[in-house]
Amino acid sequence: MRAYNFSAGPAVLPEPVLRRAAEEMLDWHGSGMSVMEMSHRGKEFIGIHAKAEADLRSLLAIPPDYKVLFLQGGAIGENAIVPMNLLRGFDTAAYVNTGEWSKKSIKEARKYTSVAIAASAEDRNFTYVPPQASWNVPPGAAFVHVCTNETIGGVEYHWTPDVPGVPVVADMSSHLLSRAVDVSKYGVIYGGAQKNIGPAGLTIVIVRGDLLDRALPITPSAFHWKEQAEADSMLNTPPTYAIYVAGLVFEWLIGQGGIPAIESRNIAKAKLLYDYLDATSFYVNPVNRADRSRMNVPFKLRDESLDAAFLKGAEARGMVQLKGHRSVGGMRASIYNAMPVEGVQALVDYMREFERTHG
Ligand SMILES: *Cc1c(COP(=O)(O)O)cnc(C)c1O
Repeated sequence: MRAYNFSAGPAVLPEPVLRRAAEEMLDWHGSGMSVMEMSHRGKEFIGIHAKAEADLRSLLAIPPDYKVLFLQGGAIGENAIVPMNLLRGFDTAAYVNTGEWSKKSIKEARKYTSVAIAASAEDRNFTYVPPQASWNVPPGAAFVHVCTNETIGGVEYHWTPDVPGVPVVADMSSHLLSRAVDVSKYGVIYGGAQKNIGPAGLTIVIVRGDLLDRALPITPSAFHWKEQAEADSMLNTPPTYAIYVAGLVFEWLIGQGGIPAIESRNIAKAKLLYDYLDATSFYVNPVNRADRSRMNVPFKLRDESLDAAFLKGAEARGMVQLKGHRSVGGMRASIYNAMPVEGVQALVDYMREFERTHG
């Protein structure tokens, strides 16, 4: 019996993907071995890797002048790898601060460069995305960094930043592949796979070709985008099994109708939950309505003394990992691509029942 898993990450994966991985575990396509046991330089794995990249390119319509890298290191690793790869010839990078993940990116960047905070939502406790008209990006900045979905705060950009002359770098860890994105508007898109794409251990980097020539000499080879791009992400051993499972997720997504289909499903799922939150005062979501995340929905019970009972009742009904991040408390429902609408409906039904019995 599978739980409805609302974890923020590592998170729920599509059941057909897990079944397929299980079926192929001992003998992948007659190779006599598991994907885990294959050489990354063998023809089988090279095929798996190439298909995963091609499917990702087709799902996101990634323009040909962008490189797709499948690396290790996670998004926090990438927080340091981004400035290392983009700073040669620059002494400032701009960051928009929308919450916990932005702050972590800023902290890493400060090790390599002076950071200009182009805008910050701290004045209202990170409950909104500062509109672009309020941004102040220094013209000589190497890039402007945004976190387009704040996984902890539940704040999402529903518009695309556009700063003339300065490439936009986006941490999309927790909503990449949940919605349409115009890749050509970004210099770099990156994210860890374990939120909405696959197992932990894989980091996806999509980088515009002309930005590959800006790495600081100290950049480690394994994290040097240009060296990795020239080696088809195989300068070191890539996270082979995670790439394989991500590839199965890409195939699953294509089979579902691609990004337009999954996006409309995600809109419907989020609406179900937010409509209920808006109709009650028993629970509260603090985020500005226009900036609410479709993927991560934080909410609090007005009476925090009921938190433990709420979580216990949810678990008894097979709904797990609803506890909010330790830095904000309360609850958080992460409703990624692989969360079925039935899971969100079950949560709303339970929340309503809990309100009725405890309100
Ligand atoms: C989870 C997350 C990270 C951190 O990912 P790691 O793989 O733990 O390094 C960074 N940014 C965002 C937006 C995230 O959701």
